[in-house]
Amino acid sequence: MQDATIRVLPVGTVNQIAAGEVVERPASVVKELVENAVDAGAGLVRVEVTSDRRQVTGVRVVDDGIGMGRADAVLAFKEHATSKIREIEDLDCLHTLGFRGEALASIASVAEVTIVTKPRDRGVIAGIRVRVRGGGDPEVSEVGAPDGTSVEVKDLFFNTPARRKFLKSLHTELAHIHGVVEKTALAHPEVAFRLLHNGRERIATHAADDLRETAGALFGTDLTRALVPVGGGNRFVRVGGFVARPSHTRADQYQIFLSVNGRPVYSAGIVRAIKEGYGTLLPANRFPIAFLALTTEDGLVDANVHPTKRQVRFTHEREVYEAVTETVRTALHGEDLLAGEREAEVFTPPPAPRRPARPVAPAPTTAPRPGVGESPALYAKSDRRLRQTELPLAGAERNRLPEVTVLGQVDATYIVGSTGGRSLVLIDQHAAHERILYEQVQAKQASGPKTQELIVPVLVTFSPTEVELVREALPLLAEEGFVVEEFGPSTFAVNAIPVVLGKLEEPEVIRDLVSALVREGPSDPVGRREAITRRVACRGAIKAGDPLTTEQMQRLVEQLAHTENPYTCPHGRPTVILFSPDEMAAMFRRT
Ligand code: ADP
Ligand code: MG
Repeated sequence: MQDATIRVLPVGTVNQIAAGEVVERPASVVKELVENAVDAGAGLVRVEVTSDRRQVTGVRVVDDGIGMGRADAVLAFKEHATSKIREIEDLDCLHTLGFRGEALASIASVAEVTIVTKPRDRGVIAGIRVRVRGGGDPEVSEVGAPDGTSVEVKDLFFNTPARRKFLKSLHTELAHIHGVVEKTALAHPEVAFRLLHNGRERIATHAADDLRETAGALFGTDLTRALVPVGGGNRFVRVGGFVARPSHTRADQYQIFLSVNGRPVYSAGIVRAIKEGYGTLLPANRFPIAFLALTTEDGLVDANVHPTKRQVRFTHEREVYEAVTETVRTALHGEDLLAGEREAEVFTPPPAPRRPARPVAPAPTTAPRPGVGESPALYAKSDRRLRQTELPLAGAERNRLPEVTVLGQVDATYIVGSTGGRSLVLIDQHAAHERILYEQVQAKQASGPKTQELIVPVLVTFSPTEVELVREALPLLAEEGFVVEEFGPSTFAVNAIPVVLGKLEEPEVIRDLVSALVREGPSDPVGRREAITRRVACRGAIKAGDPLTTEQMQRLVEQLAHTENPYTCPHGRPTVILFSPDEMAAMFRRT
């Protein structure tokens, strides 16, 4: 029970509580300090992170911005002390990232913060150093210093051990820090950013005229070659930046970077609007790659939604989304999209040598043949995918489905067949192939993950954020059969993949698997293995929308018949739906 006396909390305690909202982890410190540097008009922002083997031990952000005089440097640590707004109306025409005046006070209440600063252009000779530890009194002294500001944060959470306990592994924290620097750099291409970890340079961008250069510095030129510029808008918003051609997509939305008036933000609504702009150019379940900068007139956007300021609210949300969709759509339609496809081909490894065709049951004569003008290439990929799940002969005696004769395919998604000419059978081709793959992968995993060397190593480029995660996950990946090594600043060479992946050498698939594994792999090995199995099954399987020849469908059905559990996919959805003569009769009210 609480006791009944109400007390006003001391300022220090208030700040520690507030710190919980603003300072969640080392990356939040980096975010606040980097924002302050940008607000101070810096041309170059250097972020130095130090760590031991287990955790981040210090963060320093150095800028060449306007700096602070003595009085301001002390005041900066006070709660609700800001030079950026004076009254609430100022929020309507905010041109800075900060405005709450609580970051430095919060951080200094849970760490030791040392600011060294000298104002630019004021003829001051000496700099000022102010140190505050755990919200205590500031220690002030004069020091020699260059123009600009450096803020160093040490001993984070030294007085809030509960918070410290929630910190994740070193690499996760570093990945978050990379993420902050990436996002801020993309929202401010005009500022140069550098990130160093224990003295080694991890990120270096130059002050650039447009986002493409910054994106190139962060993610490599492979990606930037696929970018298409966008520009448009309406009365409420201007939309600029770049989107990738549909040949370059991702399994998740981590490659969509948005800024609103220079503030990196996340917005599910804008992500949806971008996807809508791609329309059918975007394969189902894929996300585009986009770097978009939105700008609005004063007063049309509210950044004061959440203490971390990651979200914004628009006064005319619908119109903003419409502008995004329209801008993306127009840009993509004006482009020679095939140009991107041709470029993309350069990075695809040569196809594996064809195995001699195995004997297959002849296709029934009633079956449709591929239409005129449809190239065999259309079917080649499906063939590759089917070949990876060819049955070992040993399993041939266990047939768990009635004999199905394939009649045809509808909507490039469902196999239509019949059993003994009596029942009607509908098979979801993706779900069915997923089931087959899933069981085969499981079986192979039971005998331990074996790896197979790739003929040509697949080079996969990751974003700086992911690079940290991949580095950390290398042992885990090896355990699962991926032999991956660092190849360049943001490139990894995949030299071998689990045998279970069969001939799946498409770089896109491998990159998706590795990045999913790295991002969301559950920590217990069993759960992790299961997650991989499902993912491999899903990515390796024939898709809805893949046209299949009758022969291919027949092979698929035959393979499905030899699984333990042919009636559901690994996610529990049905693979086969059967209409018996009785059921059909009932549907036609013949009974
Ligand atoms: P806010 O950014 O919301 O104003 P902060 O606590 O982050 O609040 O910073 C308080 C004040 O300290 C800022 O308003 C600014 O005047 C000053 N300040 C902080 N960092 C810097 C910096 N790198 N260069 C110049 N001034 C700074
Ligand atoms: Mg700030």
